[in-house]
Amino acid sequence: MEGLSISSEPPSSNLAVRRSSLSEYIDFPDARPDCWYDWKWQLRNRITSLDVIRELIPLTRREEEGIKRATGRLAMAITPYFFSLIDRQDPKCPIRKQAIPRLEEFSVAPCEMVDPCGEDSHSPVPGLVHRYPDRALLIVTDSCAMYCRYCTRKRMVGEEHPPMPVDRFDDALKYIRSKKSIRDVLISGGDPLMMKSEILENYISRLRAIPHLDIIRIGTRVPVTLPMRVTEELVSMLKKYHPLYISIHFSHPREITPEVAKACTLLSDAGIPLGSQTVLLKGVNDRPATMKKLMHELLKIRVRPYYLYQCDMAMGTGHFRTPVTVGMNIIEELRGHTTGYAIPTFVVDAPGGGGKIPVAPTYLLSQAKGKVVLRNYENKIFTYTEPE
Ligand SMILES: *Cc1c(COP(=O)(O)O)cnc(C)c1O
Ligand code: SF4
Repeated sequence: MEGLSISSEPPSSNLAVRRSSLSEYIDFPDARPDCWYDWKWQLRNRITSLDVIRELIPLTRREEEGIKRATGRLAMAITPYFFSLIDRQDPKCPIRKQAIPRLEEFSVAPCEMVDPCGEDSHSPVPGLVHRYPDRALLIVTDSCAMYCRYCTRKRMVGEEHPPMPVDRFDDALKYIRSKKSIRDVLISGGDPLMMKSEILENYISRLRAIPHLDIIRIGTRVPVTLPMRVTEELVSMLKKYHPLYISIHFSHPREITPEVAKACTLLSDAGIPLGSQTVLLKGVNDRPATMKKLMHELLKIRVRPYYLYQCDMAMGTGHFRTPVTVGMNIIEELRGHTTGYAIPTFVVDAPGGGGKIPVAPTYLLSQAKGKVVLRNYENKIFTYTEPE
């Protein structure tokens, strides 16, 4: 794809021009030119270096150190659009924490792993993870529009490789064809919507042609970090391959902007059911009120909360991880207190590869001789008598 390589910095003579126009676009939303809404422009102008960030925002020492140490080692790229959501006066801004590396990212706890969910060991062919009998996960690219600092696939993201080449896809396809038990394929990455539409269509259409595949799913964060990528052309391509579902990665209510609402409306209007996936992150969305607000905002744009993930034990995520009880408490504060549709399933993706394990508050207090004792969301106690 054009302009996708992180290393493709413009010649330094253009840099000064580029910086001043970037800060104008970011500072004066009303003055944004048409190119702001062009996703290719957004990708070409991603913020990828310490020099450019410094010009745009006063950095803390820990951020400055974090960016320096990430350079050349861990992918960093932020679309001007996503960068414009940062509150530049606030070092605690939840958008900023997700996008800008901090020094803490380089403290690795002994438990943290390169491949926390054991994906590589469940991969029968490269790029395909087959953990559950009836569904498979395809990793089609290592590129994302913005690199989340807490990414569980840190080991592989970063645009070092072109999207999954056709011959590798052929091998994955052959595997899926040979396993009649697979009825659901989840296309993931990186971010599948970073691929050229023609390549994505080629892959989706060949999956659709497999008779035993009921549904195809796409997992993406592009509608949040690069909403302009969701064009009418993309959507009319996708809707040819129903039943198609899309799971969108959201972290914070501030991510739900008019641009994101428009992208989700286009997708929903094309009959694509939208679900959300959220990683529980310390200092970003670990307060029950923040999470509830996010879930409410999602329902308003017709995205049904799907999963809330405990942050995986990926390398250098200690500053983002919370105790598991924080997630359980959030669910407790939602269930009964708001619309059932607003409540995601809280899961821990088992370290080493056991899959997603739901963790819920306990409402069943005791169980004996045909009787169960339950509590409700107000902590009132009830007994249900089972049939003889
Ligand atoms: C999450 C995941 C899936 C899909 O799980 P669902 O609960 O069906 O959404 C499939 N394969 C792998 C490897 C996964 O990590
Ligand atoms: S969008 Fe997903 S794959 Fe990409 S950096 Fe963020 S968490 Fe990782």
